[in-house]
Amino acid sequence: MLFLVFSTFTFAAKVQYSMWEKGLGLEQYLEKHNISQDVLKSLDKDDEKLIHEVGYSYRYFELIASNGVLLQTLLPIGDELQAHLYRTHTGYKIEIIPISYQQDTHIALLEVDKSPHTDISNKIKNKRLAGEFTRVLKHSVDFRGIQKKDKIAIVYDQKMRLGQPLSIPDIKVAMLESHGHKNYVFKHTDGKYYNEKGNVLVQKYMQKPLKHVRITSPFTNRRFHPVLKRWKAHHGTDFGARRGTPILAAADGEVIFSGWKGGYGKVIKIQHKDGYVTLYAHQSRLKVNKGTSVKAGQIIGYVGSTGRSTGPHLHFGLYKNGRAIDPMRMVKFSTEGLTGKGKKAFLNRKTKYTQIINKIFEDNIPSYVWNSVDTVSVVPSMKKYYQNRGW
Ligand SMILES: [Zn+2]
Repeated sequence: MLFLVFSTFTFAAKVQYSMWEKGLGLEQYLEKHNISQDVLKSLDKDDEKLIHEVGYSYRYFELIASNGVLLQTLLPIGDELQAHLYRTHTGYKIEIIPISYQQDTHIALLEVDKSPHTDISNKIKNKRLAGEFTRVLKHSVDFRGIQKKDKIAIVYDQKMRLGQPLSIPDIKVAMLESHGHKNYVFKHTDGKYYNEKGNVLVQKYMQKPLKHVRITSPFTNRRFHPVLKRWKAHHGTDFGARRGTPILAAADGEVIFSGWKGGYGKVIKIQHKDGYVTLYAHQSRLKVNKGTSVKAGQIIGYVGSTGRSTGPHLHFGLYKNGRAIDPMRMVKFSTEGLTGKGKKAFLNRKTKYTQIINKIFEDNIPSYVWNSVDTVSVVPSMKKYYQNRGW
């Protein structure tokens, strides 16, 4: 997408690839390039909210004419969408378009040398995979007991863009063999991780931001809106509630923003540990100021309909290191494990993934990428082997 857009220019313009300055707003960026803020008026209410996520520690692209005039800018918004600012005969325009990427299923098998985190980082060259592996396994395995030559197997989906991993890898199943015992974790369709028995593993969930929750609009990554014929995303979960309903902090943390922010209206942002930030938008009244330390469950404000909102509701957003993730993955709604249909579906997934992992493990198959066997992570001599097996 990117190069297609840029290659249509044949004159002496240059492409610049830079790091977005942390904390810089799009408004300031427009000002720097003498572009009227009016360009933002063409955005609808959802896009106006998304645009506030522009540029948190992202690299972005610019096309600059030989006379220094900005022709195009591509600014990532999360992992799926980007703002495309471009110059036309009549002035600048802005639109939200998808980021193109390739997604493959990867399989990794390795032996512990130093520690799972260090070894995954060094051998697979994917730090986020190392982080995710530790996160999902730490509740079922005592990492202090891990020894040299213990074995790790992971099946995961990874998005790639321009040869670089994009976004957090999506681990489907991970296995660590330690002291002769195979410890498995499986990701279920609800986004949570379970052990072989179907017990949920990650215990430290956030609390519900309202006492009683009713979801009116779920989190979505990019999707093509069939009526508007445009790419859209909803980076948060909407909960219907009456005006004045108390809003509760989802976890302990520090208020880092309390005030008015564009389409979000009256909004509070709370910084939690491990790089998580929660956002509570469209409030009628804010109860805590910036800099306040809050406890999980503490009242921070009240439901309203400020900003670009069609009725009283809470827009609840969750970010990890600046990137939007589905809040439902982290919010605890109930305590029980899987039952009935959910349990049956889980057991089917479990069987399928256990077979894959055991096959790799027993045959000692080196790491490879499914669906795209030409990539660098494949040992050339193994290519035929994979192809013969329909991989
Ligand atoms: Zn919303």
